[in-house]
Amino acid sequence: MSVQRLLLLEAKFKMHLLLNEDKEIAIAKINPHRDFYNVRKVDTHIHHSASMHQKHLLRFIKRSLRDRVVIFRDGKELTLQEVFDSLRMTAYDLSLDMLDVHADNSTLHRFDRFNLKYNPCGSSRLREIFLKTDNMIDGLYLAQITQELFADYQESKYQMAELRVSIYGRDKEEWNKLAKWICDNNLYSDNNRWVIQIPRLYHVHKRTTSSIRVFSDMIQNVFEPLFKATISPEEYPQLHLFLQQVVAFDSVDDESLGERKIWKDPPTPDTWDSEDNLPYSYYIYMMWANIHVLNQFRRERGFSTFALRPHCGEAGDLDHVVAAFLLADGINHGITMRRSPSLQYLFYLEQIGLAVSPMSNNALFLQYDRNPFDIYFKRGLNVSLSTDDPLQFHMTKEPLLEEYGMAKQMFRYSNVDLCEIARNSVLQSGFEDCVKSQWIGANYYLPGPSGNDISRTNVPDLRLHFRWAETSLEWRRQLRNDRHMTLEEEQSYVAEW
Ligand SMILES: [Zn+2]
Repeated sequence: MSVQRLLLLEAKFKMHLLLNEDKEIAIAKINPHRDFYNVRKVDTHIHHSASMHQKHLLRFIKRSLRDRVVIFRDGKELTLQEVFDSLRMTAYDLSLDMLDVHADNSTLHRFDRFNLKYNPCGSSRLREIFLKTDNMIDGLYLAQITQELFADYQESKYQMAELRVSIYGRDKEEWNKLAKWICDNNLYSDNNRWVIQIPRLYHVHKRTTSSIRVFSDMIQNVFEPLFKATISPEEYPQLHLFLQQVVAFDSVDDESLGERKIWKDPPTPDTWDSEDNLPYSYYIYMMWANIHVLNQFRRERGFSTFALRPHCGEAGDLDHVVAAFLLADGINHGITMRRSPSLQYLFYLEQIGLAVSPMSNNALFLQYDRNPFDIYFKRGLNVSLSTDDPLQFHMTKEPLLEEYGMAKQMFRYSNVDLCEIARNSVLQSGFEDCVKSQWIGANYYLPGPSGNDISRTNVPDLRLHFRWAETSLEWRRQLRNDRHMTLEEEQSYVAEW
């Protein structure tokens, strides 16, 4: 059944374009001032430690070659010059080829090799010095790179980001250290909101960190500091301030790794003392349960709340997507759903946001021309384009525009299509209501054309009317089927509803 519905939706969209594309383009043309370049677009899925492009990192490393002590290794303090000497390199030798952070043919289907690309010049020392917040120089270099990145975003004015930073759950001080780093370095930008990514690494912490005995130790390290900062913000001023800029939680790791499923009688977190990792769905449930309670508590106190937007469906089993459908507010990737029409249809009906990164997928899991992004878009799923890791995948100073540019060429998108995708990105993002109202219209939360303001979005009402009419029809059809209603009963039901 889902296959038919999805094929019909796709065919109807093609028909809509045949009949109305010229009209849509003409409406956008007479819309004064606004075009694709000056509609707001949010990079809804981007990792902080890979958010700078490779040339940016290279220039920064060259500029930093001074005699400052930057790392403690093998029993002695080393300056950056000494680190380079130990790698038998000079500033003159440094090139993008030498830096070697870009994904290439060797990384396709090899997430382990891709992870090594985070090491500039193949050196974990340089990764620690330039791409970590918790190092001997208190993350100074990464803070400076971030400030330069924010300046680039502000200069572009219409490009926004939701940078992901990690909390590992190894100890309870991680939050305070991260908040101190953010506040001390004044890492605030109108163009950015922070997302916290929790790597699914219980099994690694269990082996390497003595304080992690059972799974609940990790979960407590992640969430307890947040409850404390919500109870007594005055005791944690920097964390309280930082949390006002955090909009969501993400869950990250290689989904293609095999996992041990727990289909029944799942253990409670305080009894899971195995050295094995827990399955994806268990992590997502634990995150959802804690965020749900934390949000209720924060709402009562008048504080901001957090969405759950995990990585999901990049690779691996479909039960990851099932778990996210039940619990998440949006997901990053979702390309495995190309194999499941039922899940695709459910995501369509609920309009759950998908932040897809076709250029990243192309380097790691799926060739660009086979990416389902275009099919999802045509069928009316709520999709946005995102960069994932500009350091590894992109070539220019404006990676998000590069991502849109590539999709435009590959899928033959019109400017109206691109503006609709940009509008989706704002809707999916965690920016505040008042900000979204300014960017895409005062009534942006209303469905269909009533939620559109073409003077801000450059999307003709005609397009959003088509999308809304189709979604309403599908919903009504489902209601009729579920409740065995006749057409008349359904019409009076919908009128009341
Ligand atoms: Zn990612």
